[in-house]
Amino acid sequence: TAEHTADKRLRERARAVIPGGMYGHQSTALLPGAYPQFMRGGRGARIWDVDGNEYIDLMCSYGPVVLGHQHPRVEEAAAAQAALGDCQNAPGPVMVDLAELLVRTVRHADWAMFAKNGTDATTMCCTIARARTGRRKILVATGAYHGAAPWCTPRPAGVTPQDRENLGYYTYNDMESVRQAAAAAGDDLAGILVSPFKHDAGYDQELVDPGFARGLRALCDETGAALILDDVRCGFRLHLGSSWEPVGVAPDLSAWSKAIANGHALAAVLGNDAFRDGARQLFVTGSFWFSAVSMAAAIATITALAEERAVEAMERSGAELRDGILAQAHSWDLPISYTGPDVMPYLSFAGDEDHRLGDVFAEHALRGGVYLHPRHNWFVSAAMTGDDIARALEATDRAFAAVRKQIGN
Ligand code: PMP
Repeated sequence: TAEHTADKRLRERARAVIPGGMYGHQSTALLPGAYPQFMRGGRGARIWDVDGNEYIDLMCSYGPVVLGHQHPRVEEAAAAQAALGDCQNAPGPVMVDLAELLVRTVRHADWAMFAKNGTDATTMCCTIARARTGRRKILVATGAYHGAAPWCTPRPAGVTPQDRENLGYYTYNDMESVRQAAAAAGDDLAGILVSPFKHDAGYDQELVDPGFARGLRALCDETGAALILDDVRCGFRLHLGSSWEPVGVAPDLSAWSKAIANGHALAAVLGNDAFRDGARQLFVTGSFWFSAVSMAAAIATITALAEERAVEAMERSGAELRDGILAQAHSWDLPISYTGPDVMPYLSFAGDEDHRLGDVFAEHALRGGVYLHPRHNWFVSAAMTGDDIARALEATDRAFAAVRKQIGN
């Protein structure tokens, strides 16, 4: 089993100089005990912790890694730009190249703006909607994650009621609940924020009902509110374009980050012409928002996604993983739910509300050499080979065996 000597030492040092030793979504306080807190690196679909233990990566850095770690073309493009300059007095030409590429790639987009994190992008979408409409209220789905700023963080610490007073709430896939929330907002409705499918951490996932997506579009058309798609987690993993293009619904604004630069720090807001003036009014910026390296990496990523038919590759691997997992759960006589798109699946055990069985499963999967998550959707990358999937499935089979043992026969 895995040795974690270097990891333990780093955790001890971190406890003294980092509040809580670690914070945010990558804190292992949210994971079973065996998970390493610190990683050394990765290549393709393999990653190594600081003690040198190797894992098949089914989390992909929580989404950013889509072509695999250290993708050669992306890293070459980033290195070539880094040799010229990164953080300068003004952006490089790559900013315009990337905006043009995104406008060509994403059907609803007439323009692009850039930032660093998904939270920057979702926040900016809300601000643009308000600037354009002169109204205040944004509707969000109860339990949906849109980032870690005071208006959207899931933890109450340090958040004031005023931070949330311009939000209204609806239930995902329930148009009647949206109509009620819109009625409550009245003529102050600035926008409706929605994720491509329901992917709340800790819960079974739900694909979008196309009728619901069309209903949101119609309501926004009626009221002049902005339809805002939070494509931060799904963007460029489900489709090479907006995740709702296959659904046939175009948002007015969309928020992107994670996969667009294969792990380089970049976020984007895309929008249509109706919201261009609203966007132009904002003063939004950051010291690192115009850094050229991540923009060069994004151009290489989007180009490689298309040329390597990466979405199809992920769908094939995701289907193979799903078939393997479902067969294993069946053979161990363990009732599970395996929900969401094959490339972003979520596994839960029937009746496991406290996630105890999920934790046993994840911990044994980790010991067997696959890094997955007990209460967050997983991510399949285009770098997964048949051998990677076979090794991942060997580990999950042992993990199911451990769950079987935990429950008893
Ligand atoms: N929206 C969604 C749907 C996300 O999954 C995330 C990140 N998990 C965010 C917004 C926030 O992105 P970031 O952590 O980069 O600020």
